[in-house]
Amino acid sequence: MQLATRVQELTPSLTLAIDSKAKALKAEGIDVCGFGAGEPDMDTPEHIKTACIEAIQAGFTKYTPSSGLPELRQAISEKFKKDNNLDYKPSQIIVSNGAKQSCYNAVTAVCDPGDEVIIPAPYWLSYPEMVRLAGAEPVIVETTEQSAWKITAEQFENAMTPKTKMIIINSPGNPTGSVYSREELRAISEVAAEEEIYILSDEIYERLTYEGAEHVSIASLTPEAHDLTITVNGFSKAYAMTGWRLGYLGAPEAIAKAIDSMQSHSTSNPCSFAQKGGLAALKGDQQCVIDMRDEFDIRREYMFDRLSNISGLTAVRPLGAFYVLVNVSSYGLKSQNFADRLLSKANVAVVPGVAFGDDRTIRLSYATSLDVIKKGLDRLEEFCKTL
Ligand code: PMP
Repeated sequence: MQLATRVQELTPSLTLAIDSKAKALKAEGIDVCGFGAGEPDMDTPEHIKTACIEAIQAGFTKYTPSSGLPELRQAISEKFKKDNNLDYKPSQIIVSNGAKQSCYNAVTAVCDPGDEVIIPAPYWLSYPEMVRLAGAEPVIVETTEQSAWKITAEQFENAMTPKTKMIIINSPGNPTGSVYSREELRAISEVAAEEEIYILSDEIYERLTYEGAEHVSIASLTPEAHDLTITVNGFSKAYAMTGWRLGYLGAPEAIAKAIDSMQSHSTSNPCSFAQKGGLAALKGDQQCVIDMRDEFDIRREYMFDRLSNISGLTAVRPLGAFYVLVNVSSYGLKSQNFADRLLSKANVAVVPGVAFGDDRTIRLSYATSLDVIKKGLDRLEEFCKTL
């Protein structure tokens, strides 16, 4: 069968491969400690579920405008202003089936075949594939622990060519847990503005920051940055709504219009009653978000302290999201090999860094109970002694 070239080049998701191995072991009755999760383990808050259930019962089960309900786009516009100091009119906002679709829409709307997109590594594994699906070329820029896995303005400038169309910034970051400071973002936005490079700013982990780290939206820094940036956010991580498939973006008018058109011919609107849940999330009490963040913070402290005390491992203190990226390169194993052995010998599932474009590391998610974290880290500690 002759498939399209662009799909032949896709790499299957390594995170899913590890996950299915861990599930197979669990099905055999083996007690696996899973650190692979990319989603909050908490349930969606009750008032959000109720709004959705009431919408279904009231017969709110038909198509909505393809870019989302006007009242939801209005609420998102207000959220952008209040939380992020961003001016996006409702017409500049597109609601989609998850922030993943928002990112995909952004890349597809801006990139032509032959364009280059700068992606700092370690990266969220879908970015390069989205770029390839658009026919463009991912340009991976390796970062280091010294810069807390963040790309510097200088690295960005050095990676630029006449073909560069976009840079992807993800703060707080998956898998790094890093949060870019206002100054770092300003420096990056200045480089982008000089050459008119678009910025895809993925801010899905916005609400999960710790130790007073401030989340800054790059588009809020200067009018030039605003005109070049597509800001992506969503409900999955802040409100524990991963299965609802609801995300959104704010973009310059012309880009939003193009995405509106693309979406109207591909997926149409995100689920009508899920949008009612999203509206309740934005309009309702935000204490649920703070409570979940506080719970993550306790686990983060515990996990980071334990990991820092295992000789042979190093990690940068994460200030956002719910991951710790651990450097295991002192053992001289490839990350996939390390993760495979850890799973088969110690029943601990982690994601090898190679999935994120970095073979020195493994990613541990703390979106799991403190009990599992304690047990899993005991096992990891013992496992490291055998290497
Ligand atoms: N961006 C990043 C960095 C993510 O980690 C994820 C989820 N793993 C997403 C976007 C997509 O989130 P969703 O589609 O569930 O809104």
